[in-house]
Amino acid sequence: MSSHSYGLAGVMGWPVAHSRSPKLHNYWLEKYGLPGAYVQLAVAPETLGVAIAGLAALGFRGCNITIPHKVDAMAFVDDIDANAKRVGAINTIVVQPDDSLKGFNHDGFGYIQSLLDAQPDWRADTGPITVLGAGGAARAVVLSLADRGAKEIRLLNRTPEKAQALASEFGAPVKAVAWADRHAALSDIALLVNTTSQGMHGTPALDLDLTALPQRALVSDAIYVPLETPLLQAARLRGNATVNGLGMLLNQARPAFQAWFGVMPEITPELRRAIEATLQS
Ligand code: NAP
Repeated sequence: MSSHSYGLAGVMGWPVAHSRSPKLHNYWLEKYGLPGAYVQLAVAPETLGVAIAGLAALGFRGCNITIPHKVDAMAFVDDIDANAKRVGAINTIVVQPDDSLKGFNHDGFGYIQSLLDAQPDWRADTGPITVLGAGGAARAVVLSLADRGAKEIRLLNRTPEKAQALASEFGAPVKAVAWADRHAALSDIALLVNTTSQGMHGTPALDLDLTALPQRALVSDAIYVPLETPLLQAARLRGNATVNGLGMLLNQARPAFQAWFGVMPEITPELRRAIEATLQS
């Protein structure tokens, strides 16, 4: 770990200007009275290796890794924790006491915490779960739900081979279901998760008929721009409880901050409002 008392961390991405992480981590540094700064690190793919290798020498405690580097960055760290290995991507690097680099993935932690923030007694084993999408977010979400004891996860993706590959990689309780059957795959479920990009600002709404969805089912969306996607709006209007992607974004940052700065930070209503204000589209 860096011997500098001024704590440095940042987010490496390309581009990176859109990232809300500096606002989030700098809010916490100020709130907890910790001397330090969290900065944008615009790193092009061809310089990712040298940028990561320079972290310790520059006195960084570590950094977040965002699009498009989450998979490629794994090749440039010395060690990867077991959960991140299963996810197949890292979103956090922590400089270790001997200056070696360890990679983590906190997206699944962030997702589960976002559900618990909304419903403190939420459990993964109260009924089948339907997950739409089989990209990077889906991998973290599906693994975290399986680890929390989900008994049946129906995984559907526009490109079926990706859902099938994930189901055979993760094994029970994950089952691949045909994309054409997504409307019927909502029957009897306790939780619906959208991890596709459909419904994001600038993309069409997800094409999904909610008729078969039980009213007691929780509906969550990994998207946070807009805060209420067409899916979440439709679910809310028919009486389902909903959780947007902001809680996942805020919560994934907490264990990283703790690893770098020694404090597990809290998500206050004031912080939530400050980040929400940057998301109005
Ligand atoms: P990704 O790896 O590129 O995966 C995108 C997914 O969307 C794939 O399953 C893809 O299906 C599906 N998709 C794209 N266009 C579609 C269409 N027209 N119809 C149906 N499905 C379509 O992206 P990702 O990293 O998983 O991110 C997915 C979403 O989660 C994004 O909106 C991202 O902002 C959000 N996210 C949020 C957080 C958070 O902290 N809240 C964290 C990570 C990601 P195919 O395989 O068929 O292409």
